[in-house]
Amino acid sequence: MGFTSKILHADRRGGVEHGSIHKPIHTAVTFAYDDAHDLAAVFQGRQDGYSYGRQVNPTVTALQDKITLMEQGVGTAAFATGMAAIGTTLFSLLRSGDHFISSSFLFGNTNSLFNSFAAHGIEISFVDATSVDAVAAEIRDNTKLVFVETIANPRTQVSDLKRIGDLCRNNNLVYFVDNTITTPYLFSPKEVGASLSINSLTKYIGGHANALGGAVTELGNYDWNAFDNLYDNYKKGDVSNWAITQIKKKGLRDFGASLGPEAAHHISVGSDTLALRMDRATSNAQVLCEYLQAHPSIKKVYYPGLRDHPQFELAKSLFKAPGALFSVELNELDCFDFINKLDLVICTSNLGDTRSLAIPVAHSIYYEMGPERRASMGIDDSLVRFSIGIEDSDDLIADFEQALS
Ligand SMILES: *Cc1c(COP(=O)(O)O)cnc(C)c1O
Repeated sequence: MGFTSKILHADRRGGVEHGSIHKPIHTAVTFAYDDAHDLAAVFQGRQDGYSYGRQVNPTVTALQDKITLMEQGVGTAAFATGMAAIGTTLFSLLRSGDHFISSSFLFGNTNSLFNSFAAHGIEISFVDATSVDAVAAEIRDNTKLVFVETIANPRTQVSDLKRIGDLCRNNNLVYFVDNTITTPYLFSPKEVGASLSINSLTKYIGGHANALGGAVTELGNYDWNAFDNLYDNYKKGDVSNWAITQIKKKGLRDFGASLGPEAAHHISVGSDTLALRMDRATSNAQVLCEYLQAHPSIKKVYYPGLRDHPQFELAKSLFKAPGALFSVELNELDCFDFINKLDLVICTSNLGDTRSLAIPVAHSIYYEMGPERRASMGIDDSLVRFSIGIEDSDDLIADFEQALS
């Protein structure tokens, strides 16, 4: 079955109470058992079931199953936010003295999180992940994992995803891919050998800016026998389940950044139209970038769907479409004036909404990291990032035209 047919009917095929066509919102925090043996069996992982809502809840399970289908994975853990998904996973899998390699082209908050890990005794190398050689050069005896984004926000660098996958396989490294900007509809991390994928559900998968959420999916590519940070308690059953079990059982228990059932429901309903929204948003982004590239007030457009993008060919070989996110540098135009003149496009910090959004990058999301780190990430003071939505493309062009005139 195709991507959309599969996820539209996922809840129903999972067996929903009363024949309901989607999973209802279960708000109970705790789940009761007539026989205490059953409760014990659930706690010990010998029986499926629910105990306390911090770990998981039936509405959240249905969403997790949907994300697993999208990613063609083995299992998924859902979290309160995308940051909680990244943070909890790394806290569960890494220990003080371990080293991991990260792309230096990172979502600003992930960059901030990784600096916190460094302050707690985990070593990190930041590298240019558009080149597999840069990643290979940083592998050490204590290297455990490689973290990359597919298309980096805001400058749209594309990681050398396939070759980094081969490198990780040859060196027994966990390969952790942030698929938020591409989504499982445009890109399958499993196919390039990723071990785990993370999606911020807040963005395209939920898609309507009405709920926060995050998910980590086990993709079944990594042999967790080779990973010495797993506790014996979680090494039960199929080896491909060991890490995700530790993330769910220990990570969610310890940190408690659980996804609530109401948010899970919003995200699940939003996710039904992911493919339709991505088709429309990516085609809008392509049309707009071609228009902006030819405009005299625009100095530079960064979008992997343009021929002059350094990873144009790479993006074409990896993704179904080059995404709906791009950024521009301006010619003698103040980025605040430009954004303020846009009418249809909203000035805000989110991305992956149905509506088109703009933000002055250096002055907002990348302000705190300072001018040096910004320069190393190629972030010009005039850089404006756009997350393009599903409006009618003529209206978007008209809005940009009046704002630039
Ligand atoms: C937004 C985002 C995150 C974090 O997700 P939240 O749900 O906002 O916590 C992580 N990675 C990328 C690439 C993002 O765009």
